[in-house]
Amino acid sequence: MEHQRPKILLVDDRPENLFALEQTLKPLNASLTRAISGEEALSQVLRQQFALILMDVQMPGMDGFEAVSLMRDYDDTKNVPVIFVTAISKERQFVEQAYESGAVDYLFKPIAPGVLLSKVKVFLELEKQRIELEEAVQKNKKMAAHNETVLDCITEGIISFNSQGIIDWANPTALRLLGMTLPQVAKSKLFDLFHLDQKQPPIQWDDFTQTNESGSHAQIRNCDYLLKRQDCTTFPVEFSMSGFTEHIQDGGVFSFQDITERKWAEDELIRLAQEDSLTQLPNRALFHEFLRVSLQERVRDNGNLALLMLDMDDFKRVNDTLGHDVGDKLLQSVSARLAECLRQGDLVARLGGDEFGIILPVIRKSDDAGRVANKVLESFKKPHQLGSCTLTVGASIGITTFPEGGKDIKELIKSADTAMYHAKGTGRNNFQFFSREMQERVLAKDTLEKELIIALKERQFESHYQPKIASNGDLTGYEALVRWQHPTRGMVFPDDFIELVEETGLVVELGKQMLEMACAQNKKWIDEGIVAENTTVAVNVSVRQLSEKSLVKTIQDVLAQTNLPPECLEVEITEYTMMNDVEHAIVVLTQLRDLGVKIAIDDFGTGYSSLTYLSKLPLNTLKVDQYFVNGIGEDPGDESIVKATINLAHSLNLQVTAEGVETDEQRQFLIANKVNYLQGYFFSRPQSSSNLEQWIVEQNFSNIPQTPVI
Ligand code: C2E
Ligand code: CA
Ligand code: CA
Repeated sequence: MEHQRPKILLVDDRPENLFALEQTLKPLNASLTRAISGEEALSQVLRQQFALILMDVQMPGMDGFEAVSLMRDYDDTKNVPVIFVTAISKERQFVEQAYESGAVDYLFKPIAPGVLLSKVKVFLELEKQRIELEEAVQKNKKMAAHNETVLDCITEGIISFNSQGIIDWANPTALRLLGMTLPQVAKSKLFDLFHLDQKQPPIQWDDFTQTNESGSHAQIRNCDYLLKRQDCTTFPVEFSMSGFTEHIQDGGVFSFQDITERKWAEDELIRLAQEDSLTQLPNRALFHEFLRVSLQERVRDNGNLALLMLDMDDFKRVNDTLGHDVGDKLLQSVSARLAECLRQGDLVARLGGDEFGIILPVIRKSDDAGRVANKVLESFKKPHQLGSCTLTVGASIGITTFPEGGKDIKELIKSADTAMYHAKGTGRNNFQFFSREMQERVLAKDTLEKELIIALKERQFESHYQPKIASNGDLTGYEALVRWQHPTRGMVFPDDFIELVEETGLVVELGKQMLEMACAQNKKWIDEGIVAENTTVAVNVSVRQLSEKSLVKTIQDVLAQTNLPPECLEVEITEYTMMNDVEHAIVVLTQLRDLGVKIAIDDFGTGYSSLTYLSKLPLNTLKVDQYFVNGIGEDPGDESIVKATINLAHSLNLQVTAEGVETDEQRQFLIANKVNYLQGYFFSRPQSSSNLEQWIVEQNFSNIPQTPVI
């Protein structure tokens, strides 16, 4: 900024004196104003700001002294430096009067121009510095005001503290958030604002100051903690803190933000991520987390915990028959009951579907867990009122305890699951503790599963064949039955592995291999004239295979590959398998029948099928279960069932095979009751293909076997 020219007021009643002064001061390049009386001088100083006044003492009217002393009464003019210029004697009295009236200097006429010039210069220089200083002060004031507004407006709370951690200032936001006034907050310790009941604060005062002594900058950035309000309520904040200098001997600043809303949103997200939306119970994720933490605690205190796995009995049926709405309501009602059965500190979670997990994080002995399981089962006895329907469901519970049932989460869950499946297997609606035997079985199962995978890859399975004899004594076909040529155990029968093969889904691959072997073998025997052209080979198809989309395609492919006419292949599907999902069975079996493949319903009499379904299913043959055949000659009830079944089948236009025929008495009874085909040890055990081939040849069946007419 360019400074204005300094202004000097020249006061004298005589124009020639004024002129002389003007001439003397010319080199200063100052702005010179004249006044020819004390009065005029006064009116000038009120109008403009002068850097200096050169004042004549003796003037008519108001003299110089008077004019100056009047000037000293006004704020605006009292500080203007005045140099008296006078002709009166240098007597001390006058000099004193002049200084009293506010002169800064005193010059006598005649004035030596050099002296005047240098004195004035000094005063102008002083004035210049004064103006600059004033400007600086103004600027500072403005900046301070600006800073204050900024501090007032920002939404962060800001607190400054001294080197002892005592608060000396806080902005309005800080005061509002803390519910305090400045006097209340000032003089208190910054760290007293922390709510210490909770976890340790992220930093202690000593650490904060120490960090500085070690030479590094005293700074803490974006830490979360709780602050106390005046009324002792708390609120979460994110704060930063730093010393004014590298070492906090000048104090520091603490800034913080209220993060109540952010925390709420975060908590809500966590809650949603950990909750099952249907039942509001903790979900699988939280269950795992809770188990992990509980386990850690029990490892630390050498304690015990229990894990209960609960699976509702027949939930699928409720869903299928009454609809998902009722199913959902049932799950909610069950959840509420489960929650009621537990003590505080226990956790029940919905793990998915109709499966629930209960964690008892502290137990004294395993009986505690048994008691909870009992309580749960007891609570399940009461019917659930779901809108207009009333339902009672059972549950199967498996219990495991730490450390007996496993060392880690995975093992514990597995052992609880094993116990739960065991409970399902032993009649449902009960609970079972995990036991060593179970564990051994699980281990054996694991080993078996691994072996089965290898067996499939290495084609260790082979097919044996059991002949089916028509009522007239002809060979009508054979059933393919799987045998496992185990590398060390020798021949293993399906009862030892078929369940696991089903459970693991490996049965899909096994089924394919069996189909390939059976179809190829039948085709070979037909081609070689060992059996009649219409001889059928029967292959067993399991639940899992039936539900697999690929079944029809696989059968089609194998038939094409082996060139076996479709009517020479029969699939045997147990009654239970078909009833598992009748609608689906109808669809798949219809496709198979359209291919020309024959269909038999196996183990009939054990699967509770209804007559309606039986007439809808595209069947050719019904196989009476060997249990009833076994009772022939011994149990009249069984005999009646066999008779009734044969009649029923014939009325539905189905042929009947009796399996498990072991005695001639049974054979005669069955033939007398018009069974079409017979199969059993009485005729032949299942045999390897080469043995059976020899057997067929030896039997010398009447020429070519024919399918008998009913
Ligand atoms: P299944 O389909 O009911 O087969 C008949 C079972 O009864 C066979 O047992 C057979 O050896 C046996 N059997 C035949 N005649 C008599 C008899 O007179 N008395 C007695 N006590 N038993 C007789 P196997 O071969 O041990 O097969 C058992 C079960 O394993 C089969 O029952 C079938 O459900 C399943 N299975 C066998 N092979 C396969 C297969 O390739 N695939 C599938 N999915 N399951 C198979
Ligand atoms: Ca069968
Ligand atoms: Ca059977």
